[in-house]
Amino acid sequence: MSIERRNFTKFYLVVPLHHISRTASLQLVQMSSSMKKKVLHNRVNRDELKEQLSNSKEARTTLSFYKYYHIKNPSFFRDYLYYEWSDLGVLGRIYVAGEGVNGQMSVPSSNFEAFKKKMAEVLFLNGIRLNVAIEDDGKSFFKLAIKVRNKIVADGLNDDSFDVTDKGTHVNAEQFNTLTDDPNTILIDMRNHYESEVGYFEGAILPEEATFRELLPNAIDNYKDQKNKKVVMYCTGGIRCEKASAYFKHNGFEQVYQLDGGIIEYARQVEEQGLKNKFKGKNFVFDERLGERISNEIVSNCHQCGKPCDSHTNCANDACHLLFIQCEDCRKEHEGCCSNLCNEFIKKPEEEQKELRKTTEFNGTKFGKGRYKAHKGGLLG
Ligand SMILES: [Zn+2]
Ligand SMILES: [Zn+2]
Repeated sequence: MSIERRNFTKFYLVVPLHHISRTASLQLVQMSSSMKKKVLHNRVNRDELKEQLSNSKEARTTLSFYKYYHIKNPSFFRDYLYYEWSDLGVLGRIYVAGEGVNGQMSVPSSNFEAFKKKMAEVLFLNGIRLNVAIEDDGKSFFKLAIKVRNKIVADGLNDDSFDVTDKGTHVNAEQFNTLTDDPNTILIDMRNHYESEVGYFEGAILPEEATFRELLPNAIDNYKDQKNKKVVMYCTGGIRCEKASAYFKHNGFEQVYQLDGGIIEYARQVEEQGLKNKFKGKNFVFDERLGERISNEIVSNCHQCGKPCDSHTNCANDACHLLFIQCEDCRKEHEGCCSNLCNEFIKKPEEEQKELRKTTEFNGTKFGKGRYKAHKGGLLG
């Protein structure tokens, strides 16, 4: 047996080779030793990376995708993706779990075709839809982080307790418009409060909860007497509705529909097919952009002065980092901070800040609903 063959066999035992094409698996065998040598994590600090990206003139394409699929060896698959994608200059936040993969990222536009080719080498990702961003300045992500998690969405559901494959019917933008024209249809926004605050579909129920984990059981409970009505649900890119719709069906709702590809794909279809746009405002996204404008209406207000505004920001005090809505005037006045407490804090000497950090509570003071830590690492899509 040749060395290559032996390596291949050895590799076959640990690697879920059936996930990827034969060409890719042969490449994998060859790269196995270099994979061990290569550093498969980002090691440059955050500020430096941010600086690099803001100075870069490179055109980048922001996109997201997800796929539920039984991945046998998530850590190996994670390393494989990191190895392949870091060479292509991919930046973003990707979660890999035994149940699948969920990624939000940006790819140098010049490498987009090469990236698609790499995707196709992973058999279960071959041909899947990539949700490409509408508003893109190429500055959506500044590093590549691929993480292994238990689940690809933190939904708080016990998947063994219901049939996750018995999902709601996927509908496209046109079907969504028709269904929601019917006043008897229950339309539910499956996103968190801070997301729907800056943009939503006309007539949608906008839950007040700050997390999906809390939102889902409450939504079931609120509509338990209307199980014979049509229920249509939507989220950013469709992933949250995959299990939420199955959970609704498990709870006795008979006609459950979900918007295929979420708001991102809806906006694309509306534009492409010249359909009526029923989405108002901005689509909140989990990257540096924090939102994509879908319509010109501004549906929310600055949390500080109350004037119409839909620009989210993170508090300039890193110890707080609260995600909130702040207008340009307030940004100047409060120097990007959410409160006087934070503004005073960032002006103190570094040593004093270090000490104060230990005892000071910054968030959620006047913005009770505002413990929006999502941007820092929410498992959403
Ligand atoms: Zn303001
Ligand atoms: Zn703050």
